Amino acid sequence: MPGFELFGDEERKEVQDVLDTGVLFRYGFDQARKNHWKARTFEAELAQRIGAGCCHLCSSGTAALSIALASCGVGAGDEVIVPPFTFIATIEAVLNAGAVPVFAEIDETLCLDPEAISDVVTPRTKAVLPVHMCGAMARIDKINSVCNKKGLIMIEDACQALGSTLDGKALGTFGQMGCFSFDPVKTITCGEGGAVVTNDKNLYQIADAYSDHGHDHTGNDRGLEGHPILGTNFRICELNAAVGLAQLRKLDLILRKQRTHKKAIKDALAQFSEITFRKILDEKGDSATFLSFFLPEESRARKIAGDLGQAGVDACFYWYDNNWHYIRQWDHLKKLKSAAKLPLKLLEDCPDYEKIELPRSDSIMSRTISMLIKPSWTEEELMQRIERIIDVVKG
Ligand SMILES: *Cc1c(COP(=O)(O)O)cnc(C)c1O
Repeated sequence: MPGFELFGDEERKEVQDVLDTGVLFRYGFDQARKNHWKARTFEAELAQRIGAGCCHLCSSGTAALSIALASCGVGAGDEVIVPPFTFIATIEAVLNAGAVPVFAEIDETLCLDPEAISDVVTPRTKAVLPVHMCGAMARIDKINSVCNKKGLIMIEDACQALGSTLDGKALGTFGQMGCFSFDPVKTITCGEGGAVVTNDKNLYQIADAYSDHGHDHTGNDRGLEGHPILGTNFRICELNAAVGLAQLRKLDLILRKQRTHKKAIKDALAQFSEITFRKILDEKGDSATFLSFFLPEESRARKIAGDLGQAGVDACFYWYDNNWHYIRQWDHLKKLKSAAKLPLKLLEDCPDYEKIELPRSDSIMSRTISMLIKPSWTEEELMQRIERIIDVVKG
């Protein structure tokens, strides 16, 4: 999945433009920057690429989540429904907003189960935050209709799913706001960076102001305008945006390679009756950053995950034991350990996360193995990999 595998002259050129002017700031310095607006250009091209009305770049995917929550008015006293299989950043963003993460089960899409939302909705539920894990889609249209019916905000964590679509519509554009990450291991990377997208001009304007200390950038002079709201600094720098711009222009190439590589491995694994695959609602829309599959039993999944490692098949993940991506090992969350004291009200409102039971998610995750798909593999590397994988499963 990492776009850095395909770094080249294109990235160097964009960065050089910025270094030549010395203007690293995304706002102002109109004369000195010689018409290089990397962040702005990246925003326009990304919005165009995924069919979103507005796009605002920021400093990370985590920042994007915080911006989206703040812009949608999610904060103290609110509950936000989240899946237990995600990168911990999703949960941190909710807590940092002062809101309570409430976990609901996932299904065989490896994403939030739309049917499970009603089980955990309370009068305090304000938003649902589905995560499109490992490059492919949640049942996002279903989740969206549940949200619409119940009057809940939907924010999509599409940090891992740039370039994915469901029936032709880009992930990240289904709800009020969508979030992307361009961190070093994402489909495209700019070092550190993220984006929020929305079709709602008003939400966009709040997002834009919030990420830069509340400045209103629609006027001429950033600093002389009235500040509509308090904000913070989640700005992206022109150097990062420059790398991201070159990477975005390679997205289709990356997707094409990943899809070809993934199909070859998936076809090879299909011969084994004990293996079933993650439910992909729209194969054509899968960004194909990962191949995920299920074994019938936890013990068998553990065995195969271990054997793959032994056989030198790198970048395979058994998430059930991983302490970044699945709730089972999130001891810091279970004990609500933060750097400083969390707000008392938040501590009171949070359920006892040690006692949360998610039997269906456990059953799925304990049997799941994911394999990272790299765009840079040569034909030979891919073939060798497939041979090794087959040997491992044959045992
Ligand atoms: C990477 C990721 C994030 C956070 O993105 P950063 O840019 O690393 O802050 C959030 N959610 C998910 C699902 C991610 O994979």
